Amino acid sequence: METAVVWFRDDLRVDDNPTLADALAAAEEVVPLSVFDPRASGETRYGTEKCGTHRTRFRLENVADLRGSLRERGGELFVRKGHVEDIVPAVARAVDADAVFAQTKPATEELEAEYAVRDALPDSVDFRRRWTHTLYHINDLPTRYDRIDDTFTPWRKEVEDGAAVRDPVPAPETVPAPDSVPSPATLQAASADSPVADVVGDPGDIPTLADFGFDEPPTDDRAVLEFEGGETAGKRRVESYLWEGDHLREYKQTRNRLLGADYSSKFSPWLAAGCLSPRWLHREVQRYEEQRVANEDTYWLVFELAWRDFFQFQFLKHGTDFFAPNGIRDVEKRWDRDRAAFHRWADGETGVPFVDANMRELNRTGYMSNRGRQNVASFLADALGVDWRWGAAYFEERLVDYDVASNWGNWAYQAGVGNDSRDNHFDVLSQAEYYDDDAAYVGAWLPALDGLPPEYAHRPWQMDDDEQARYGVELGIDYPESMIDVEARYAELRNQ
Ligand SMILES: Cc1cc2nc3c(=O)[nH]c(=O)nc-3n(C[C@H](O)[C@H](O)[C@H](O)COP(=O)(O)OP(=O)(O)OC[C@H]3O[C@@H](n4cnc5c(N)ncnc54)[C@H](O)[C@@H]3O)c2cc1C
Repeated sequence: METAVVWFRDDLRVDDNPTLADALAAAEEVVPLSVFDPRASGETRYGTEKCGTHRTRFRLENVADLRGSLRERGGELFVRKGHVEDIVPAVARAVDADAVFAQTKPATEELEAEYAVRDALPDSVDFRRRWTHTLYHINDLPTRYDRIDDTFTPWRKEVEDGAAVRDPVPAPETVPAPDSVPSPATLQAASADSPVADVVGDPGDIPTLADFGFDEPPTDDRAVLEFEGGETAGKRRVESYLWEGDHLREYKQTRNRLLGADYSSKFSPWLAAGCLSPRWLHREVQRYEEQRVANEDTYWLVFELAWRDFFQFQFLKHGTDFFAPNGIRDVEKRWDRDRAAFHRWADGETGVPFVDANMRELNRTGYMSNRGRQNVASFLADALGVDWRWGAAYFEERLVDYDVASNWGNWAYQAGVGNDSRDNHFDVLSQAEYYDDDAAYVGAWLPALDGLPPEYAHRPWQMDDDEQARYGVELGIDYPESMIDVEARYAELRNQ
């Protein structure tokens, strides 16, 4: 074929991008396109933002980096704003494309967008979708996705035994762009029923944060990392974590820590946006195992990527049930709709230090450790009994690494309505004492409690007035009183 449009979605990379590679193999020229659809931002039905400031900034950087990589290869990334079902067909018509290549994702809104684009394309344009965001390809699963086990361990064992990870596809050396701009007649035909006046020709500006109504997010020394968007920065992080820092050899032992850049990989934002491919990462782990060491820790990173895959395939299997209050198993549970309680949780003002420290880290930086996420989710859903979906929607707004399947899947799991038939709540107090035994984490994010003996930093309500005076902390003034009697609540949960 002569011309193909490559509609980039959550695959903002040139390395191991089968969508781009297949388009380049099939067509003489490709027109890469990224669309900012207004429906990807704005308010959710839960009153939260779909995409907050941290992830918006990250996304803009991802697109800028992709444009740089394509330009280095002689191509161009066209950037447009508008509804995808208007823009993609308009561009396809304008360049007289034979096909549109795009990544497919199993999530509800993503699939709706895909179908809308497909339906709006002229009959002469093929729509070719590629599955590119998981470690295991959907066609390589030993059991079809709609019949897979709902429990992680049997599913993981089955894929580890019965499926292989495909080799990554190398980044293209050149990306041939159309050598002529489309004729005015083509352009006119394209714009007649589309809001895009100048369909191709002008590459288009990448929007700014201000276009989304955001200020530049704050920087903070306590942030685990400055998450810079783009494939280039993502690969730099892999270089730093694996090769320079040599941290993979102790990944499993450190991944539950809470402070610093290297206790876990921090690859999630790049994986979620598709700046890094899990298959490419898998190959890096294999290289590391060949050149440095292969142990349980190195395996564990691949194990976590399998968790990531698990939720992607589960989402495909269960669809919108992933968003149901009672989850994929329709568990009998009633959720409290207490907005005031929810806001105290979201603002990090519950008076339970481990919860508040984690929520303040999230609010300030867009990131929270896995251990933190499990605890704050359990606190909202189990200790407060508040609708877990509000928490999931809040994470959607705030997380720099938000991914629909990982987020809603993990939230449902934690709330006892997801892919685990056991209903295990976390005791946030004992978790805090175990994982933050010197209270350094709580002290970093809650300066009022910094320097307190750990037993008081984690349970400040145990300080009487004299002790509060001694340590210079007045509960209710310097730090909130606990919104519930947590110890009594956990005793109640244990006895249920
Ligand atoms: C309530 C809750 C919400 C979450 N929301 C998200 C989300 O929106 N996006 C997201 O990427 N992860 C989410 N996670 C999973 C996990 O917390 C993050 O992937 C991890 O903390 C990211 O840090 P890391 O890259 O250093 O992880 P590492 O420990 O270094 O793990 C390596 C990679 O494996 C994957 N991974 C690890 N744990 C999980 C998991 N439990 N589920 C799915 N993938 C995993 C991630 O891609 C991660 O980058 C959530 C977990 C919980 C409990």
